[in-house]
Amino acid sequence: MRERPIFTIDGPSGAGKTTVSRRLAERASLTRLDTGAMYRACALAARRAGIPWSDGARLGMLCADLPIVFRPGEGSGTRIVLSGEDVSEAIRTPEMSMGASEVSVHVPVREAMVALQRKMGERGGVVLEGRDTGTVVFPDADAKFFLDAAAAVRARRRFLEWGEGGPAFEEVLKEVLLRDIQDSTREHSPLRVADGAIYIDTTTLTVEQVVDEMLRLLPEPARKGIPA
Ligand code: C5P
Repeated sequence: MRERPIFTIDGPSGAGKTTVSRRLAERASLTRLDTGAMYRACALAARRAGIPWSDGARLGMLCADLPIVFRPGEGSGTRIVLSGEDVSEAIRTPEMSMGASEVSVHVPVREAMVALQRKMGERGGVVLEGRDTGTVVFPDADAKFFLDAAAAVRARRRFLEWGEGGPAFEEVLKEVLLRDIQDSTREHSPLRVADGAIYIDTTTLTVEQVVDEMLRLLPEPARKGIPA
């Protein structure tokens, strides 16, 4: 039995997983685990090692003992460190978004990442965000959520995050739609609503409203250790 709960949040790009999981982690005193950042780090490590994102076998070997750690950042933020180097910014480029989507189709990569995520989260007191955290990583999580929103709204959120100097809105929308297709049609661990997950459409909701809704809908056993 875990003393503290495990929560999972899955959903497509721009659904609000990152901001919502940050706020939920603060309000419920949980540690946030950004699984997408791990696939991004894998894509970056591969690029640096000269391994093509299509080479599943070599990527699997690379990821089997990829030295990834999370460190607390400013406020509620976390930093991702790869082989001792803080790569939090380097993994947030449009190229690494597509790279993460490409490397994550390979079974050996997924197996390595899932094993690491389970190790990081097994003691509880965590909220994981990603595409398969409720379906594959912790199907027995204490509470599972699926966040979604209209594609144009998701692309707009991403576009605003980039701000000046970032890609054009049409580019961002194209990338969001392409990743939607890649992530939900791949053979292994496709993006889908986990059994028993609570589905929330965030199209017209603020971050605070989404988190309020999540806490309101928490199944009773999942409340263990959560400050009232
Ligand atoms: O969430 P984020 O945009 O950082 O994820 C980048 C990519 O990593 C996703 O588009 C998806 O292909 C992959 N991913 C995954 N499984 C997860 C998290 C992310 O396949 N649990």
